[in-house]
Amino acid sequence: MLTDQEVLQNTVNLLTQSPDFQIPAVKVCVRHDPYFNQEGAIAFWAGWKTGEMVIRPDHMEKATFSQLVDTLKHELVHAWVSWNKLDRSVAKGHGEPFIRKAIELGLDIDSTLANYPESRRIYERIKGEKVSTAVSQQAEKIQAQKLKQLQEQKDFETRQREWLEEQDRSNFRWKVGTWIFSIVFGGLMVFGLCSIIFAPYHPAQPLTEPSTSNEWQGSVTDKYKARTLQLSQGETFVIETSAPNQTVAGVLNNGTSFWANNGVKLKAKEFGVLMLWSEKPGEYQVKVRRQ
Ligand SMILES: [Zn+2]
Repeated sequence: MLTDQEVLQNTVNLLTQSPDFQIPAVKVCVRHDPYFNQEGAIAFWAGWKTGEMVIRPDHMEKATFSQLVDTLKHELVHAWVSWNKLDRSVAKGHGEPFIRKAIELGLDIDSTLANYPESRRIYERIKGEKVSTAVSQQAEKIQAQKLKQLQEQKDFETRQREWLEEQDRSNFRWKVGTWIFSIVFGGLMVFGLCSIIFAPYHPAQPLTEPSTSNEWQGSVTDKYKARTLQLSQGETFVIETSAPNQTVAGVLNNGTSFWANNGVKLKAKEFGVLMLWSEKPGEYQVKVRRQ
């Protein structure tokens, strides 16, 4: 279909100068050759002695442009193998270097593989290598992804654990704080409550008016204020109040307490300090006489 010699040569020139080949110029010829009769081939590389590739004329007639370019490339692979001094001894130049280059260029080499069983074996081996390389690359990729996922999972778990631990610490601090607050506040409440409940029964603090005279006279101004009288052990004393019907309360500082009406005689048993206070709020005159 394409018989224009100039177009053909320009195509070959572009190919030889392209990064795919990078070889010296190759002359392309379309002519009959005895080789085509022997081998039934459609083209051949004549070698660097002539630097020529030969295309069978009827192939030129029948081939599409794309098929023709594949033919040119096929012969240029032979030229490339030869130029690079690679092995040409196998399967009439269709050995491993040829097959690898053809695969690299994406050339259709079905007919070559059909013609040369050894080429096919080489091709199958190379394909196996490529497949196993691809498989191992894929496996490595998957492994790397898994490792990444595991790391991410681990990172997540670490963050989660740290977060939970921080929560625990926070809760613990809160609990401890609450407990301390409860104990302190509760204690204060109990103390306060006890103070209120038991306050009336607490003996009033003695006023510092000890008397050594035979008689002490004064006022008991309210329920919680007392008067003290220093007595000797075993001394008897009489209490007289200004209100005859009022009871006067007292306590000896051995802890014994008493209620005494007017004129009651009492005996200081152990210690000699008498404390007095009135039963009801108000001011009472109290006289204590030693007997
Ligand atoms: Zn060939």
